[in-house]
Amino acid sequence: MCAQNHKKPSWLRAFAGERCPRCRKGKMYKYPIWNLGKLLQMNSHCSVCGLKFERETGFYYGAMYVSYAFTVATLVSEFLLLTSVFNIQNPDTWFLVILASLALMLPIFFRYSRVLYIRMAGQVNYDYDPETEQP
Ligand SMILES: [Zn+2]
Repeated sequence: MCAQNHKKPSWLRAFAGERCPRCRKGKMYKYPIWNLGKLLQMNSHCSVCGLKFERETGFYYGAMYVSYAFTVATLVSEFLLLTSVFNIQNPDTWFLVILASLALMLPIFFRYSRVLYIRMAGQVNYDYDPETEQP
């Protein structure tokens, strides 16, 4: 086997690609993000290392807090951008711009909050090597 296959992708690259937190290669989601009807359908296990993505029943309820943090951070940063950089003082404009951007960002927030949450709270053994050990 080629030596390139043993090397893990970087944490950031795996996060951006919604990959398994342990091997950083297997896909967490079944469908791409633009398939909004099946946005949150996840693979049950990693196809590369066998990590179970649903750590326990209702595990991803905790990802709502991460999604909330993403939403608040976006809301505050857009407000600051509109008022200080673009000097827009009309509350109706703030509301419309922030609402439109949140509507566009929500699918991203939903998925990446789960990706981040399993990394933070998934109790994953990151030292596990699928080449040498059994799942
Ligand atoms: Zn994996």
